[in-house]
Amino acid sequence: MQLSETIKLYMTKEQKSLVVMTMNEYINTVNSLVSAASNGTSISKYTTADVKTSLPSALTNQCIRDARSIVNRYNKDCRKASAKNKKPANQKSSITIKKPAVPVLKRPCCYVNNQNFKIKDNCIEFPVLINGKSRRIAVRTSMTDNQKLIFANAKHGTMRIVYKGSKIVAQVVYEVNEPEYTDDGSAMGVDLGIKCPAVSYTSDGSVKFYGNGRKNKYMRRHYKYLRKKLGKAKKPDAIKRINNKEQRIMKDIDHKISREIVETAAVHDVKVIKLERLANIRSTTRTSRKNNPSLHTWSFYRLAQFIEYKAKLAGIKVEYVNPAYTSQRCPVCGGVHHARDRNYTCSCGFRIHRDLLGAINICNSTEYVGGSNIRHTA
Ligand SMILES: [Zn+2]
Repeated sequence: MQLSETIKLYMTKEQKSLVVMTMNEYINTVNSLVSAASNGTSISKYTTADVKTSLPSALTNQCIRDARSIVNRYNKDCRKASAKNKKPANQKSSITIKKPAVPVLKRPCCYVNNQNFKIKDNCIEFPVLINGKSRRIAVRTSMTDNQKLIFANAKHGTMRIVYKGSKIVAQVVYEVNEPEYTDDGSAMGVDLGIKCPAVSYTSDGSVKFYGNGRKNKYMRRHYKYLRKKLGKAKKPDAIKRINNKEQRIMKDIDHKISREIVETAAVHDVKVIKLERLANIRSTTRTSRKNNPSLHTWSFYRLAQFIEYKAKLAGIKVEYVNPAYTSQRCPVCGGVHHARDRNYTCSCGFRIHRDLLGAINICNSTEYVGGSNIRHTA
């Protein structure tokens, strides 16, 4: 599996202007190749000799590769659109699907393949064009110890140099070996929620609560209050800053919770982690306890995605189960009741914490419903 790490770059003034120039030239080159190809010029056999740029040939090559894959995707989309328009006349649809627009890269960036950059000590080396000649520059970085360890051992993929906010960073892809997955019937059910960010129940009977829903709530409320105050004071930049800060904190919390969940699963030798499929989050079923509008609904998706990739690295599979009745069905007698407050009491006498009930039912469920279908970005 491929993962990526973001590395901060500390460039000198000269380096920065060279890199910015390279990024702009890079997207201009890709854009002009894509535009030429969409006008009928074949770029499939292009080499660096066919392309005039102010880039090192290694990067020009990468531009050609990028342009080709953009064009292939674009052509595929065009074919799809025209196939849809060719539907038989008995389908009385007057809607004509427009041909997709030719894609254009707007944000400056550049890609460097693994043959052409090197991570050394605290630097990344890659080529730029200086006085018409390809020269490697060594840009200082601040890698964490963990990143140094990763890059010393893992096979590198492509490096992408991009803007993240106003800063230029390097995102380096690396290859990770996934341990072999073996199913032995052991499972862990994880119930994600707001008051309790996560509760797990393993088939050997262990229970664990993760995170602090109340603390998260106060934090969100605090940031909401700050936003309101800054909004009145008309300080949009400050609002953006605290929004970013809040997002960072939430993301860190999700990283921590997902790590703890997967660690617990590993300690209990669990081979499958089961989560509820959260597709219903998008619809606005009023009864769903997961549709609190004050929350970023996608935070459940993100947490699920974090659990998924960390589990994969640990050789644990993630399965999604049907969320229907997981917080209502009694695991002892099978009866269905609504929970009151945080507690669930069944007519058979069974009593339990409501979120724990969810985790138990998820753990026992065999109603698998496919993947989360959500691509995690950032
Ligand atoms: Zn019961």
